[in-house]
Amino acid sequence: MKKIIAGNWKMYGEPAMAEALSVAVARHAEALPDTVSVVICPPAVLLAQVSGWIAGARRTKTGGQSCHNRPEGAFTGDISAKMVKDAGADYVIIGHSERRQYHRETDSQISEAAALALKSGLCPIICVGESEEERKSGRANEVVGAQVAACLPDAAKDHDFVLAYEPVWAIGSGATPTLADIEAMHAHILSVAAAATGKKAGGITVLYGGSVKADNARDILQVPGVSGVLVGGASLKADDFCRIITAAV
Ligand code: PEP
Repeated sequence: MKKIIAGNWKMYGEPAMAEALSVAVARHAEALPDTVSVVICPPAVLLAQVSGWIAGARRTKTGGQSCHNRPEGAFTGDISAKMVKDAGADYVIIGHSERRQYHRETDSQISEAAALALKSGLCPIICVGESEEERKSGRANEVVGAQVAACLPDAAKDHDFVLAYEPVWAIGSGATPTLADIEAMHAHILSVAAAATGKKAGGITVLYGGSVKADNARDILQVPGVSGVLVGGASLKADDFCRIITAAV
């Protein structure tokens, strides 16, 4: 089964580090079978450079970390889906919990942004996930299911897209759900996404994200319904990220 290993650099990186890291990752991935795809998501100002440094790599593509829910306009500091595409990306992360928290992004804005991403020729990586309080109160399935249904645009019926299950409490914390909890949530997400799009669950890609490291990646990647991982902190170290990529083989 195909696996996607995506690295979200967040607001880290400067040109020399970005070149060394992206070239090392792309070179490592080049030797791997075509069942593995790697996506590097650097900060927006480095996106065109990283896309250029890894141009021609067979296994590695780039992605943006966000795009706006309007195609263009007076939105100072924001970037559009088309701008992300023009910078050489093939993917864009949408609705990351840090965007929902610090930029108040809503499910309907996320759906609009995902529609624009698809229109621009990008594959959206749409993030969903429950808070710690929502999990503890037994509402994780309800919350995440509602996010999936609300964030998938109509155009998802006819295009490829990626969902990323990222429990908010697992991001950057070192904590992860049990493998059984990951399996159960991925099954739930696949069934909601299949019902929303009319696609077969087996053809839908759902990544897991939240404290994925070199030493837990192999176990997580073997969980049924997990088609890859979205990695934050560990994607900033070439050795760690390359070990995670190898774990997908
Ligand atoms: C993320 O930022 O999407 C993420 C999963 O972060 P981390 O791997 O550091 O938990």
